[in-house]
Amino acid sequence: MAQDIAKIALITGSSRGLGRNTALALAQKGVDVIVTYRSNQAEAENVVSAIAGMGGKAVALQLDTSNTKTFDDFATQIKRSLKDIWQTEQFDFLVNNAGIGVYAPFAETTEEEFDRLMNIHVKGVFFLTQKLLPLIKDGGRIVNISSGLARFALPGYAAYGAMKGAIEVLTRYLAKELGQRQIAVNVVAPGAIETDFAEGAVRDNPEINNFIASQTALGRVGLPDDIGGAIASLLSEDNRWVNAQRIEVSGGMFI
Ligand code: NDP
Repeated sequence: MAQDIAKIALITGSSRGLGRNTALALAQKGVDVIVTYRSNQAEAENVVSAIAGMGGKAVALQLDTSNTKTFDDFATQIKRSLKDIWQTEQFDFLVNNAGIGVYAPFAETTEEEFDRLMNIHVKGVFFLTQKLLPLIKDGGRIVNISSGLARFALPGYAAYGAMKGAIEVLTRYLAKELGQRQIAVNVVAPGAIETDFAEGAVRDNPEINNFIASQTALGRVGLPDDIGGAIASLLSEDNRWVNAQRIEVSGGMFI
């Protein structure tokens, strides 16, 4: 049987956490991956090795999504990798995942904290996606990552939650404007998941962990494995007609 040419996904922030899990879940489905990291090169190379171990191809590139001035260079590096590793000029899927958590009550949120979150979660996603548009195939897909915190309000996440809300609106605009290129754009909103996010609070603080479990229909907090597979399945051919949607993957948190 002739082997299909593997599809290629670029996942921002895939050295750890949900991005890493998504990279591995996609690789399991035969999708090759452009991994990006901000500072953890060794972790990113581990993801590349794990994908190679599954028989796939991957490369790790450095990217700070909060620094738009670096996006031209980043696009050049992607072009080089696509040519050298895949002998192609475009990739199929963009997953805008990179992010940080900052706990700050509304009354105490500083302008610096606000700008830091804004640059990563909104400005970076907006202009990185714009920069990469010529490198995404017609018929490709984009998945943005939001959060349950854009639907429900937990004290301490006013700036973060509002910015994830912005990404949900942006998703619908991208879907509308990129539809002519047959690019579907959706947003996945995870509930609270045990990762390093927000200094590992959901994973390491038993009080937070128990509280979230008690507010979740399925009775526990989420694990990275609950998310990567969901994103990989959204990017599968079976879900090609899903477009402009917010898909919450939270086990039924605060319903
Ligand atoms: P982690 O802290 O586990 O991983 C964050 C990843 O993003 C790392 O790969 C990190 O790279 C990268 N990263 C961080 N800052 C930047 C930056 N400025 N530029 C580029 N890459 C960066 O977080 P999660 O995996 O938990 O979070 C992933 C996404 O999911 C985020 O958008 C987050 O907001 C969202 N989310 C998370 C939830 C959770 O409970 N965990 C719930 C809902 C949404 P490096 O390793 O080099 O530092």
